[in-house]
Amino acid sequence: AHTLRLILGDQLNPQHSWFATVRSEVVYVLMEIRQETDYVLHHAQKIIAIFAGMRELARQLAEAGHRVHYLSINDPANTQSLTDNLSVLIAHFQVQVFEYQDPDEFRLDQQLQAFLAKPQVQAKPQVQAKPQVQAKPQVQTSSPCGISAGSSQVDSEHFYTQRHEAAELFANRKQWLMETFYRHLRKRHHVLMDAAGKPAGGQWNFDADNRKPWKGTPPEPPDLRPEHDHSALWASIQAAGVNSFGEPRATQSRWPINRAEALQQLEHFITHALPHFGDFQDAMSRKAWRLFHSLLSFSLNVKMLKSQEVVQRVEAEWRAGRVALAAAEGFIRQIIGWREYVRGIYWAQMPGYDEHNYFDHTTPLPKWFWSGDTRMNCLAASITTSLHNAHAHHIQRLMVIGNFALLAGLDVPALHRWYLGVYIDAFEWVELPNTLGMSQFADGGLLATKPYVSSAAYIDRMSDYCKGCAYDKKQRLGDVACPFNALYWDFYLRNADKLKNNPRIGMAYQQLARMDDSALAALRLRANQIRGQLDTL
Ligand code: FAD
Ligand code: SF4
Repeated sequence: AHTLRLILGDQLNPQHSWFATVRSEVVYVLMEIRQETDYVLHHAQKIIAIFAGMRELARQLAEAGHRVHYLSINDPANTQSLTDNLSVLIAHFQVQVFEYQDPDEFRLDQQLQAFLAKPQVQAKPQVQAKPQVQAKPQVQTSSPCGISAGSSQVDSEHFYTQRHEAAELFANRKQWLMETFYRHLRKRHHVLMDAAGKPAGGQWNFDADNRKPWKGTPPEPPDLRPEHDHSALWASIQAAGVNSFGEPRATQSRWPINRAEALQQLEHFITHALPHFGDFQDAMSRKAWRLFHSLLSFSLNVKMLKSQEVVQRVEAEWRAGRVALAAAEGFIRQIIGWREYVRGIYWAQMPGYDEHNYFDHTTPLPKWFWSGDTRMNCLAASITTSLHNAHAHHIQRLMVIGNFALLAGLDVPALHRWYLGVYIDAFEWVELPNTLGMSQFADGGLLATKPYVSSAAYIDRMSDYCKGCAYDKKQRLGDVACPFNALYWDFYLRNADKLKNNPRIGMAYQQLARMDDSALAALRLRANQIRGQLDTL
């Protein structure tokens, strides 16, 4: 072989232009490695789903005639390190050219660049290929790792934007706004635009129509995802000694193993859930863990689906008159808006973004983050679904778990590791800006214009959690008072120097100003008491 092409575990796109022609001199390599299972403690379902998807892609490629080298987790030849395995394979296949797709994680990007640069030859600057176009090999004269003709990094052909576009758009601007980025992309890609170049329906944003609680109707759509028995794979992961947490559900895994299943899930979502997506986007219920969410984040993040095709499919549904504009726009905003935007933030801010901790929060995570065993109904439900399904929907992640973490002052790096480990869709480029920036305001307000915090009132409005909770949503003080309430006011009190001048928070400080000293002292006392007994809440 002359060429070795690396496929990472989140690059499971069988439509990548690499695979358009079968070339006998090209070997594709996929590897299940401890380096990737262990960089953080992962949910069992996440490890299983990624390995299952990798095995399936390898099978499909081999079936199509490609040469595939697959290193399973228990293969004695597996060094369990990405670059050590590469060194062995480069020598074994007498590789002249090494190619890889843009890694989405800074960690892997750095590792590969360091590998290629070591020790004699300076790798040329890695130029980003235009979408759909494969980069030409950057030819080097000799190589450290035995690659005689050089290496190249090609586009993963998945995103709307290149890594550095957000940084370019916001250069010299103090405030980065998702809305600015979103509108820019909608115009550029003609998404939900009318013939005159104006946003469809005359407005960019239908969020005001998208904030309804769910009272049980319409019913949650059926979960039509196929079930897989991955028990053999799970046994091999355990035999390899990989640590994990959460329920493996290895005999009944519902995460797609290939593009065909991901497309099926997209169609189910469009037919059964999209019409109600906008209305109940922020709703939460003990009776329905999925509600009208798509569960497409795993398929998108491992690139079984392309973001453009999902957006185009949703827009087509609106143009055909089958869903309301508010539903289509609400969904498209998540993908073109938030998803591309957080990726832009990540690449603009790394390295170092993971070190921000604006409020200096250091309290260890309560132990019920690993069991769901708390009397706070909202947290019990959100954490239990996370442990059981490796998934929680956005408002559970943001306004229940993240909200509590911020109010309680939980350690930001530990929380980041928890989110990175627990969710099926968690990859650092998307998880870190969401956790650290959006949810914890730990970047001091680069990503979010104000901290996403609330008292019990918001949770009660958007969910059925407070009914039957051991705590009283109305009370601020006393042992049965909802912990969110005192923590909420105490958070603003504690951080007045950092937040008081934020124009979006004025109301909270006006309310605090009307409280007398004894009321403020009582709130502080109750908040301290809660923070001192987090494990027992
Ligand atoms: P839907 O509600 O159906 O939304 C559709 C799609 O929009 C999602 O599949 C996702 O691709 C995209 N999307 C929605 N919101 C966001 C967002 N804020 N940022 C990026 N994409 C978004 N999403 C991840 O993909 N990986 C993560 O690790 C992750 N960590 C998060 C951590 C926190 C603290 C918070 C508040 C949010 C996080 N999100 C993350 C965003 C969001 O919660 C999930 O994308 C969503 O819940 C996935 O479920 P779904 O596919 O049913 O989403
Ligand atoms: Fe959560 Fe408080 Fe409501 Fe209980 S009362 S469910 S702790 S918000």
